[in-house]
Amino acid sequence: MSTNHGTSNSRGRILVVGAGYAGLSTAIELTRKGFEVEVIEAAKKLTTQGSPSYPRDMIQVGSNASRVMANWGKVLEQATNDSARPSFMTIFDKSGKELLKGPLPEGFGGFPVLYCNRGLLQASIFDYANSLGVKFRFGARVESFFDEARCAGVIIDGERVEADGVVAADGVHSAARKHVIGIQQRPRTSGFAVYRTCFPLELLANDPLTKPLLETKEDVFRVWLGTDVHAILFVLAAVKQVVIFCTHKDTFEVEESWTNPGDLDDMLKVVDGWDPLIVAAMKAVPRDKLIDWKLIWRDPIRQWVSTSGRITLAGDAAHPHLPTSGQGAAQAFEDAATLGAVIDKLGKEDIPTAFRVFEKLRFERTSLTQRMGWETRHRWHQTDWEAVAQNPQYLKMPHPIWLYNFDAEKYAYDRLDDAVDSISKGTAFVSSNTPEGHVHEDWTVDMMMKLEKEQAKEHFYRVVNS
Ligand SMILES: Cc1cc2nc3c(=O)[nH]c(=O)nc-3n(C[C@H](O)[C@H](O)[C@H](O)COP(=O)(O)OP(=O)(O)OC[C@H]3O[C@@H](n4cnc5c(N)ncnc54)[C@H](O)[C@@H]3O)c2cc1C
Repeated sequence: MSTNHGTSNSRGRILVVGAGYAGLSTAIELTRKGFEVEVIEAAKKLTTQGSPSYPRDMIQVGSNASRVMANWGKVLEQATNDSARPSFMTIFDKSGKELLKGPLPEGFGGFPVLYCNRGLLQASIFDYANSLGVKFRFGARVESFFDEARCAGVIIDGERVEADGVVAADGVHSAARKHVIGIQQRPRTSGFAVYRTCFPLELLANDPLTKPLLETKEDVFRVWLGTDVHAILFVLAAVKQVVIFCTHKDTFEVEESWTNPGDLDDMLKVVDGWDPLIVAAMKAVPRDKLIDWKLIWRDPIRQWVSTSGRITLAGDAAHPHLPTSGQGAAQAFEDAATLGAVIDKLGKEDIPTAFRVFEKLRFERTSLTQRMGWETRHRWHQTDWEAVAQNPQYLKMPHPIWLYNFDAEKYAYDRLDDAVDSISKGTAFVSSNTPEGHVHEDWTVDMMMKLEKEQAKEHFYRVVNS
């Protein structure tokens, strides 16, 4: 077995596993802080199709994420030029009756909320990482992880690759998670899958119902709600694309394939008899551009760091989110900014403390944003129509200030000493990156799944959506 460690970089060398949003953003943040970073990615290359494991469509970049991107050369400027920035989100019932036309925030603290093409954004972040000198190994699947007192690393094709620390950003199917927590814990079905597609706007020209969407100057964000189903139509005017997401009941087990070509006729059956506009838009979907994507998630776990302290999980590997949170990638960016700050401050000599501080700073916040995704979906699928009649805001997608107007890097520098204290003395750490007065509660996927069949009482929701 060969060994590969050498670095001339005195700050240290970190391996990042995975070139999704979490891996790329971590690589950039650690390079910004002076570390040598090598990214190991199983896919052969990154294409404008988006992450090797995610298809090309759309992603909301909250201000908490665009604030992180603002430090990355022209990445934010480019993303802003290519993005949709709808000023309203309109929610309809399945017959097309308007329930709510709610304003969407432009941004928080001077940082925009963007709706980006997933592939273009990822390509631009990748180009920036390359320009900083991040090393990439594509087509390299990590077979196993090792962590020792003075180093950690991975085995790829029999080669032992060492570093001072490893950030495992290997996605929701993370193999590192087993190494870190010591048990195999399979991702769970959330009971739903989502038809996803992105196609040229001009394809809506053929139907008189959808044709007017070509002429709108405004970006369009519309949602239709039915029991156990919701459909989203997005028009990204800047890049002349249409995105449709249709979340529906999933009947397959998670062990089976989790991303399949979608069948257009099956999707149309799901919305049979719905508002003719969304049906017409769906009929325009090119058959080869539809994916049926299984929505899977995992219980929040407190332990993200291996026993020796030199391997940590990040991104979906640590905290997979449902799309209705609009926060999975944003939380990955926050992870990256946090890792950059804690490793910067504690240095390669104390990577185990840095990673444990990272875990402490991040766990309660991400547990809540994960739960928020389920809560929004529940409001949309098991809608309390009496509550809607009293106040249509009940249906709003939450954009709370504690979440969106947040500076993850500053928080990490500000609260690092408290977290170190709490670790060394075994005392409680009180998070201040959750809503004021919020008291953390553990929850599990099982707890949420039991509630799928019934409406939740308003006090069950932990994230206020006004
Ligand atoms: C329909 C949908 C809509 C969404 N919308 C939003 C949104 O609007 N806003 C938002 O913020 N988030 C959104 N999300 C969530 C967001 O897309 C994810 O949270 C984010 O992409 C996860 O990034 P990641 O880097 O952690 O994981 P991934 O993108 O899965 O990357 C993991 C990488 O690790 C690689 N890898 C895995 N195993 C190995 C190995 N053994 N060796 C080497 N490489 C390996 C994979 O090939 C992959 O490239 C959405 C998700 C879905 C499904």
